[in-house]
Amino acid sequence: QNFQVAIDGPASAGKSTIAKILAHNFHYIYVDTGAMYRAITLAAKLAGIDYQDEAAVVALLPQVQIEFKPGSPVQHVFLNGQEVTEAIRSREITNHVSQVAAYAAVRQDLVGRQQQLAQAGGVVMDGRDIGTTVLPQAQVKIYLIASVDERAQRRYKENQARGIAADLPTLKKEIEQRDYLDSHREISPLTKAQDAQVVDTTGQSIEQVVATISQIIKN
Ligand code: C5P
Repeated sequence: QNFQVAIDGPASAGKSTIAKILAHNFHYIYVDTGAMYRAITLAAKLAGIDYQDEAAVVALLPQVQIEFKPGSPVQHVFLNGQEVTEAIRSREITNHVSQVAAYAAVRQDLVGRQQQLAQAGGVVMDGRDIGTTVLPQAQVKIYLIASVDERAQRRYKENQARGIAADLPTLKKEIEQRDYLDSHREISPLTKAQDAQVVDTTGQSIEQVVATISQIIKN
């Protein structure tokens, strides 16, 4: 089996930032599974489908092609050939993705695609169920956490940089709501894999977190 690093944790804990740097440093593939759930959610929006209409969302799956292209500072995401890197991060998509991600058929489909992508070589994959469900045999499993205040701060700065208006208390509520939905759904809810190591990024720089996890990978 190729080397696998699974990074799970709640929203805005820094998973994708850290995963991307690790993948680059170790020459592994980076798979952002959250982007895949976001892409399905966007596909539903573009098709004019109500997010609550499970059957209609599920019917879209066979026609939804998702591709990643490496880029810096962000990886580029394509939905049926169209770049959606920015569009999948809008607040509307962010606030509806948990609902779409709770559908069994959506998860089954995307988990299959994620496992397929991991066949290509060493991989760093981030999400909510990587260590528990997608790559249960991963050699390294990290459960990345940070205080909700710090996560809201990070999301606030990110949104500001992208010109999205949002106030801090609202963002904090949205993060808490998404974490609640993600950890209370029936199928593979957000939870720490038994053999995952907890890394708390509160008050830590990106460099410090990368160094900590790199050390775990090398050991
Ligand atoms: O990681 P990100 O915040 O972009 O993920 C967006 C949403 O996708 C999560 O809130 C969750 O609902 C869903 N997700 C999931 N399983 C994963 C990755 C993401 O359910 N492995």
